[in-house]
Amino acid sequence: MSNCAIVGINWGDEGKGRMVDLLTGKYDIVVRYQGGGNAGHTVINEYGKFALHLLPSGIFHKGVMNILGNGVAMDAENLLSEIDTVKAQGVNISPDNLKISDRASLLLPWHRELDGLEEARLADKKYGSTKQGIAPFYSDKYQKKTVMAGELFYPEKLKSHLADLLEWKNLTLTKVYGAEPATMDDLMKWVEDYGERIKPYICDTAKYLHDAQKQSKSIMFEAQLGTLRDLDFGIYPYTTSSNSIAAYAPVGSGLPGAKIDQIIGVVKAYSTCVGEGPFTCEMFGPEADALREAGFEYGAKTGRPRRVGPIDIVATRYGVRMQAATDIALTKLDVLSYMDKIPVCAHYELDGKITDEFPFPAALYDAKPVIEYMDGWKCDISGARSWEDLPEAARKYVEYIEKEIECPITYVSVGPERESYIKR
Ligand code: GDP
Repeated sequence: MSNCAIVGINWGDEGKGRMVDLLTGKYDIVVRYQGGGNAGHTVINEYGKFALHLLPSGIFHKGVMNILGNGVAMDAENLLSEIDTVKAQGVNISPDNLKISDRASLLLPWHRELDGLEEARLADKKYGSTKQGIAPFYSDKYQKKTVMAGELFYPEKLKSHLADLLEWKNLTLTKVYGAEPATMDDLMKWVEDYGERIKPYICDTAKYLHDAQKQSKSIMFEAQLGTLRDLDFGIYPYTTSSNSIAAYAPVGSGLPGAKIDQIIGVVKAYSTCVGEGPFTCEMFGPEADALREAGFEYGAKTGRPRRVGPIDIVATRYGVRMQAATDIALTKLDVLSYMDKIPVCAHYELDGKITDEFPFPAALYDAKPVIEYMDGWKCDISGARSWEDLPEAARKYVEYIEKEIECPITYVSVGPERESYIKR
């Protein structure tokens, strides 16, 4: 069977978790290939409502193996609390359905601390970090200044490695930020409290995936955050610190040669953006408040109100291209049902000219949205289960987006529940 990636096309929070949860039952393995505890996938199913941060969304399906790949920021504290919460709702989680790559680097206590210290230093120029230590973690990983999960099996070597890192990191903590130094006792306590507890899940997941592929097992690659938060192709520096695009999935999973047959890009029927940075299509005032309320747009991790706007065709077309999406899942169409006229950001205006190209980040600040309006449908569509069930205006809206972003919309989601969708 074929491999698939589910990725966000825009700024994140497109409803990827909901799509992965819907489709994982069809796959043998679900792998998270980047990111850490900094974003949340919301999943609603027979066990309840969950905000998953690190656990792959396949965790709710019996017989599906879930893997945290080498590209993930392995935040043991966040993961263990998530495991406890999800288990308490009756979901089985054990090394039989969850594995952590021995090559995933560990997010250490000082990463979270440094994230907060740097955001405080930046003050009104802050990036809007979720303060989960992601940027300091990836910086250290690429400086080769953190430890891999597999090192937990070599306690003597781990201790001396941590001692070296401690000496180096304390220079930054004390001299740059004037903070308290970390101690070896703190680190060893962390290893005991968290490292020891994740050990049973750690193994050579690259080999596991290689063997699985030889047995023709199917793999789903699950992204965290959308194209516009990708470190290389997003709205830098208001990006995350890793590559969220599908092309990185094989590397971040530990299966560099993997062929991804289908790339499902998740797009929300309107736009949302958490945190700082240019957001061309942003709406303000009562119009924005109404959309935020209708879609309940508050951060899954932070509870922060999300910035909202109409669907952004320019950004979405760019997102589709950078993901090389083969299919689109359009989510939250039901949220727009209250609108008389539906705004769409059809183009940008930049330097007095209309453009359909997504601008370079530094130019994005000057881009203005060109808003057009489509007819609303003004009725509840959450019960629609087939294309024909949708009112004509809703079908026209979907068809318009599909044509403009140049990718087939295969799934239309009309509610948060697993079965609330239309397959075209
Ligand atoms: P993710 O990080 O991409 O998974 O996005 P979020 O966790 O922010 O999920 C989006 C939110 O919208 C969650 O609360 C979902 O339950 C909800 N949701 C997803 N699809 C739909 C939909 O089609 N309609 C409605 N009303 N809610 C949805």
